[in-house]
Amino acid sequence: MAKKKTIVRKVAFPRYADYNAPIRYVLENGMDVKCILPPRLTHKTMEIGSKYSPDFVCTPFKTLLGNMIEALEAGADTLVMVYGICKLGYYGELQEQILRDLGYDFQFINLSRYDTGRMKDLFKAAKDFNPHLKFRKVLKVLLESVKMAEYIDEVTSEYYQNCGFEIRKGSFKKAYEAFIAEMYAANTVDEIEQAHKKIRQTFAELPVSKPSQPLRVGIVGEFYTAMDQFSNFDVELKLAQMGVEIHRWMNVSNMFLHYPGEKNLNVSVKEFCTYQMGPTSTANIRSAKDYAERGFDGIIHIKSANCTPEIDVMPVLQNISADYKIPVLYLTYDAQTSDVGLMTRLEAFYDMISMRKKVVR
Ligand code: SF4
Repeated sequence: MAKKKTIVRKVAFPRYADYNAPIRYVLENGMDVKCILPPRLTHKTMEIGSKYSPDFVCTPFKTLLGNMIEALEAGADTLVMVYGICKLGYYGELQEQILRDLGYDFQFINLSRYDTGRMKDLFKAAKDFNPHLKFRKVLKVLLESVKMAEYIDEVTSEYYQNCGFEIRKGSFKKAYEAFIAEMYAANTVDEIEQAHKKIRQTFAELPVSKPSQPLRVGIVGEFYTAMDQFSNFDVELKLAQMGVEIHRWMNVSNMFLHYPGEKNLNVSVKEFCTYQMGPTSTANIRSAKDYAERGFDGIIHIKSANCTPEIDVMPVLQNISADYKIPVLYLTYDAQTSDVGLMTRLEAFYDMISMRKKVVR
């Protein structure tokens, strides 16, 4: 009898900063499916996404939809959509319907359908990727991919804290991009570890000229736009290059692995909010308070247009700003945001915090 041919799925996960590297790692090395990396986000992605999205959804909906279309055009036959405890939980259903109405034929793995809190439902989701999965293998590779995500977050954090003070122009960016490329190419835990070791050494050896009290700005904001360089117009790099040390607590590993827990968070920010306020809101309030207490020179709040949880954070940030006398810049991104408008606001913010530092010091 002829052996039944196994069809290998071509799975795509829309772009999300550089977390597609650990996602690719687990899909290809743990789940034995082919990962189609969608094209990098561009203004064309936004154009496509905006064209087919309802007007008043938040911007990540449009970005993800545009990138899903690009992934299908690039040969993906399976799309994956994440979920969250805001509107994000409903987005997958709507995006699937829009794509089917456009005539695309694909399998849609909407992770919000499995968000029951029961482990066995997560296993069911994993079986959707490949019914022949070996869970022990998936678990091992999953843990390796988590390590990769942690390394990406750690290195990204160090990059933005130091690249504004480099002596050889572009040296940090070059090393950082080489590390990210190695993460996308890694297929074993050894390759991940070696690349991490190499970038740590490179960063340590790169010459910098940093004042003893540099300008320090803390970034808070909505989970997608604050972390995704394309979506926030690389705001961290732009500001860093003016000579600012950039800090951002909000990233995948801090939020999901090192999060100190709801109870403690609420205790530490209880004068500003009594209850959990949304997917990232309380954590952002806590970060903003932490930056203020550590004497940072400013805070930047990043969100997409129509992001309800982060709109709720804004009045609380006003209170933190007034109580700790720390300036806050609010940036809202939508499909019409322009690079020129952003630069003007960043330069004005930089001028203000640098003049203020000379007076306050
Ligand atoms: S966090 Fe905000 S921007 Fe992100 S999906 Fe939820 S509502 Fe939209």
